[in-house]
Amino acid sequence: MQTIILDQPGHFRLTTSAAPATPGPGEALVRVHRVGICGTDIHAFYGRQPFFSYPRILGHELGVEVVAVGRGVDAPRVGDRCAVEPYLNCGTCIACRRGRPNCCTSLQVLGVHTDGGMREYMIVPATKLHVSAQLSFEQLALVETLGIGAHAVQRAQLAPGEQVLVIGAGPIGLAAMQFAHLADAEVIALDVSAHRLAFAQAQGTADHAILGGADALAQLLELTHGDLPTAVFDATGNPQSMMQAFQYVAHTGKLIFVSLVQGEITFNDPHFHRRELTLLATRNATPDDFRRIIAQIESGAINTIPWITHRAPTEQLIERFPSWLQPDSGLVKGMLMLV
Ligand SMILES: [Zn+2]
Ligand SMILES: [Zn+2]
Repeated sequence: MQTIILDQPGHFRLTTSAAPATPGPGEALVRVHRVGICGTDIHAFYGRQPFFSYPRILGHELGVEVVAVGRGVDAPRVGDRCAVEPYLNCGTCIACRRGRPNCCTSLQVLGVHTDGGMREYMIVPATKLHVSAQLSFEQLALVETLGIGAHAVQRAQLAPGEQVLVIGAGPIGLAAMQFAHLADAEVIALDVSAHRLAFAQAQGTADHAILGGADALAQLLELTHGDLPTAVFDATGNPQSMMQAFQYVAHTGKLIFVSLVQGEITFNDPHFHRRELTLLATRNATPDDFRRIIAQIESGAINTIPWITHRAPTEQLIERFPSWLQPDSGLVKGMLMLV
């Protein structure tokens, strides 16, 4: 079967590999139709993904079709279209026992820690498949990206009408804006790119846009009538931005770190204490997040059409990929089309 392997940083290879054997108990054999390309894949391509080993088959944002199931699997059934929850968890650690498999102490993410979906067929645990009779494979491949934002917003427990700030209007920030908007919050987007801000506003999920710069705090104060936002999401992956974000949160508010950085984040304790801030980390997404997002796309609450800006069939991905990474490419979400 056709397989794309990232042999080493900067070097993909299209090859053929042996098709997987029949699925074991509790497993499903799936045909991969669509693979979303994400920041994690781009970091791996550049060799900037920490604790990453090569060679690796990338791909954790997957729209798949079930082609066989192992013993004991009642659902999904052969022929079902599914999104894949790519977080393989142990089931017994403290996080798993507390219903938070997204941050299992020995988490293995498909396409990151273990081989992912840039291949025609793969075997996954059946419990990691989330079925939809309505969504396209492309929409199913978007569910994981949306999940990061959905989970962040779920963690923040927003109240309707709350003024929230999302820093960083890349795919993760856009997803956070989407779910904050669905929670009836008033969404302010902050980014250093006017192009990205324009995209966020065109999606209709950001009510206001602030171009990052020296007067960002003043603009935030003005938009919130001196209060500042009561929830601030940082989706920049930039330590300076994350440290700066402490100043943007209202007294009693919440600061949610969605994207992560390697290294230290420091903050001024009086900034933190005076406001009695709540600081939250958010990681991956839960099975509930997956089910909720699928229902929200099915109902039309989420419009997935603007998300996918770039596509490539298997034979052309390797050639096109570097051009997608150019700053002027306008990439939001690229899709590998295997079928
Ligand atoms: Zn991703
Ligand atoms: Zn666990």
